[in-house]
Amino acid sequence: MDSENMKIKGVTESTKIIKTRTVCYGSLSLEHKKIYDEADLYISNKHPIKCVCGKLCTGLHEKTCSKFRSAVNREFFKRIEDLNSIKKE
Ligand SMILES: [Zn+2]
Repeated sequence: MDSENMKIKGVTESTKIIKTRTVCYGSLSLEHKKIYDEADLYISNKHPIKCVCGKLCTGLHEKTCSKFRSAVNREFFKRIEDLNSIKKE
């Protein structure tokens, strides 16, 4: 990931609450950056030929495609929610 100032915006849904969050990639902890990069890779691998939006994907396209980015953000927030629930237990 190249931009420390990249904004990560996502909606998280739990049973009762829907939250919209925006965080800055540069402000994430190393642990969360790692999770973000994993989420990015996960979505990328899940759509190896065509992007989430249906276009042929290239590395550059994935960096700029808003549908791809929001899929990654969604996955990221889902993963950190999981992490939070693990910590609480
Ligand atoms: Zn796309």
